[in-house]
Amino acid sequence: MSHSPSLPDRPTLDLDPDMSEEERLAALREHYIDVSRVHEELADQLEDARSRQSELREEVSDLQEENEALKTSSLYIATVEELTDDQVLLKQHGNNQEVLTDVSPRLYQKLQAGDRVAINDSFAIQTVLDQETDARAQAMEISEKPTVHYEDIGGLEEQIQEVREAVEDPLTNPEKFQQVGIEPPSGVLLHGPPGTGKTMMAKAVANQTDATFIKMAGSELVQKFIGEGARLVRDLFELAAEREPAIIFIDEIDAIASKRTESKTSGDAEVQRTMMQLLSEMDGFDQRGDISIIAATNRFDMLDRAILRPGRFDRLIEVPEPDIEGREQILHIHTKKMNLSPDIDLEAVAEQTEGFSGAELESLATEAGMFAIRDGRTEVTEEDFEDALEKVSREESAGKPIAFY
Ligand code: ATP
Repeated sequence: MSHSPSLPDRPTLDLDPDMSEEERLAALREHYIDVSRVHEELADQLEDARSRQSELREEVSDLQEENEALKTSSLYIATVEELTDDQVLLKQHGNNQEVLTDVSPRLYQKLQAGDRVAINDSFAIQTVLDQETDARAQAMEISEKPTVHYEDIGGLEEQIQEVREAVEDPLTNPEKFQQVGIEPPSGVLLHGPPGTGKTMMAKAVANQTDATFIKMAGSELVQKFIGEGARLVRDLFELAAEREPAIIFIDEIDAIASKRTESKTSGDAEVQRTMMQLLSEMDGFDQRGDISIIAATNRFDMLDRAILRPGRFDRLIEVPEPDIEGREQILHIHTKKMNLSPDIDLEAVAEQTEGFSGAELESLATEAGMFAIRDGRTEVTEEDFEDALEKVSREESAGKPIAFY
């Protein structure tokens, strides 16, 4: 380290045999003074080194503490309320508990009242977080005008009709409901296997009604930071109110609305809090104006029935895997821009793809195109589809997911 100071010169003693006794004595005295000075200098240096050592020890122990804090996994969010002489007063989000916690001098210098921080179970500060707008931006997908149209969705005529009645009409013709004297559905729940077009339908209604589309995944709501889920739900509804007309789409709602489990871990409590916040936002939503809520799940069986009560997600729409006609339509949609050879019989492909979702059919078409490219052709043939199908079933039997990209 650059800290080691140079050692003082060693004093030398030159005693000439011709010296008188007195001269010798004087030389020895001088030598003694020199030696004492060097001794003092060395003692000073030793003391400096010791204090530097103890500083370094403290630094090591601070870093060890920080390291330990970083190793613990559960995170809560808190706001710095006040900085005292060497401690920090924090208010934990979610339960508003206030705690005084120690911080290393290094972190202390970075903190200011009002900062948001991530803390662990023992209230040790782990990191200083960015401003909250970031959390919003990270967790939500906002689109002023999604580009999906009803015609882009294959095989779900009935479901599209139901979504239009439940979401589009209340937004575009609210007077229809007033005249008849009924409340439009509060929330629409789309349920069915993955990749069957649930998100597409929500986007298409937003497009049709010129509504802002705000998407949030249930898993995002609970996997970020503890204490954050409920706040994000509040933010979600606030944002929708700012941008109305708006469609809130909550994907994977099962992540926050599963049947209550017996365990009482902090994770479960967090999920509960997030769901309660969602329910209270929906319950207090009579005056909601031009905002619609659509949720989607692949796990309908797991849902807590509380969210299905009237006034909440009270319109259930099942979105099944496409039947043969649906599959053919989806194949037409996803091959529209492809250079297909005239011999291709999409009906035959539809017949061979029982159990495929819309997303899988889209991947199949792309894969067929890849075979043509690999072969140096610009036209996609029947054989490319056969190869693609074979590849897909091989991958499926090998347990790989079907999505290619
Ligand atoms: P998840 O439950 O996994 O969120 P999802 O049901 O919301 O899935 P989407 O995101 O709507 O599925 O579909 C994924 C992609 O698959 C779409 O972007 C689209 O290209 C294709 N797709 C799915 N279903 C259809 C369909 N019925 N018609 C046309 N394309 C479809």
